[in-house]
Amino acid sequence: MKHRIVVLGAGYAGAQAANLLARRIPPEDAEVVLVNAESGFVERMRLHQVAAGQDLEPRLLAAMFTGTGVDLRIASVTAVDADARTVALDHPDGRTEILGYDTLVYALGSAVNDNGVPGAAEHAHQIASRPGALLLRDRLRSLAEGSHLLFVGEGLTGIEGVTETAESYPHLDVALVARGEPGAWLSAGAQRHLARAFDRLGVTVLPHTAVARVEPGAVITEDGTAIAADATVWTGGFAVHPIADASALSTADNGQILVDRDMRSVSHPEVLAIGDAARAVANSGLALPMSCYTAGVTAMAAVNTLTAALTGHRALALPPIHYGNHISLGRRDAIIQALNGGVRSFGWYLGGRTAARLKEAALRSVARNVDGADLQLPVRARRVRARPARATT
Ligand SMILES: Cc1cc2nc3c(=O)[nH]c(=O)nc-3n(C[C@H](O)[C@H](O)[C@H](O)COP(=O)(O)OP(=O)(O)OC[C@H]3O[C@@H](n4cnc5c(N)ncnc54)[C@H](O)[C@@H]3O)c2cc1C
Repeated sequence: MKHRIVVLGAGYAGAQAANLLARRIPPEDAEVVLVNAESGFVERMRLHQVAAGQDLEPRLLAAMFTGTGVDLRIASVTAVDADARTVALDHPDGRTEILGYDTLVYALGSAVNDNGVPGAAEHAHQIASRPGALLLRDRLRSLAEGSHLLFVGEGLTGIEGVTETAESYPHLDVALVARGEPGAWLSAGAQRHLARAFDRLGVTVLPHTAVARVEPGAVITEDGTAIAADATVWTGGFAVHPIADASALSTADNGQILVDRDMRSVSHPEVLAIGDAARAVANSGLALPMSCYTAGVTAMAAVNTLTAALTGHRALALPPIHYGNHISLGRRDAIIQALNGGVRSFGWYLGGRTAARLKEAALRSVARNVDGADLQLPVRARRVRARPARATT
């Protein structure tokens, strides 16, 4: 019997892992099943562009995986039974399926985190998912000149979202509500660059303002002030899907799967978790942030772990270090900020058009990697040396 590897989620982490696994392990030895809810690959890092009205090249997963040997199944994962080694799937035609695995690679990513703020889920838009970005796109197109557009959250998504939208909709009155100071972790020079970008794009920043609730036409701050908003966009961070937490897998407080340095679940070693869904620890000892870099580095680590376990061959892996941020500020400006061990900003940063071009190049390169380009390096498949028996089928 072939070893069955089931990869859940075809985002940046899962798509790359499935592709590499199918290329590194011969199809006679292992089958790679990839499950994803949507039929298209979602470039989440460009969802603020989608919201701002830009068209992205459609990328069907079926086309991306043709000829790779990956068995792609479009279905929603509803549960993981880590003790029985099965996953439950809902197919678009209404069928349900219990799929067994020898190895599970869990890469279901994340969604918007409303931080439990009342009204945020009901009355605010979000750009953490494609449907959310498309809804906001339609809403923005319907707003009259001078309408108030309010972003809440000063993290990377808030900064990228508010600048992109302000650039595309200069006739709107755009503001960013920040609990602290936007970009407070950046170097002094990068912070000044960011402030100039907000100024140029007409973004009003409301710092040190905590939102207590969201209402249909306003957000209410903790001191009771109402800030008028014809549309509110909630960018308060990401939350993982509850599926892992509802299983027997050991999870962190926020529901991320606890993994060791090889990306194996600490409670169920035949489960590997990668990307936003995993609590992977960097060399600094800190948790790696939910980011595309993390998706790539954890996917590579998981692939190396599995290849080594099945074939005995261990490939070179990138060290889990958080190098820095690459923040778009609309289409013509960006900030690249290097971080020291993921903790402190170096004084050095790059801003402006060159940084924007480098960010675009990085996005394209990531998109190529998930499409099987394997960092443009040749890959050699190696035979499986031992086939552990599957617990269930
Ligand atoms: C607007 C925006 C801008 C961003 N900008 C940056 C940036 O500049 N740099 C950076 O590093 N990061 C950025 N990020 C974060 C980055 O996109 C995420 O960290 C990254 O997508 C995580 O990859 P992943 O593969 O773990 O998860 P995802 O990309 O979320 O992929 C998860 C996959 O699982 C599928 N899935 C989910 N639930 C189910 C289910 N129940 N059944 C079946 N399939 C399911 C989804 O459809 C998806 O295909 C940005 C995110 C957003 C939203």
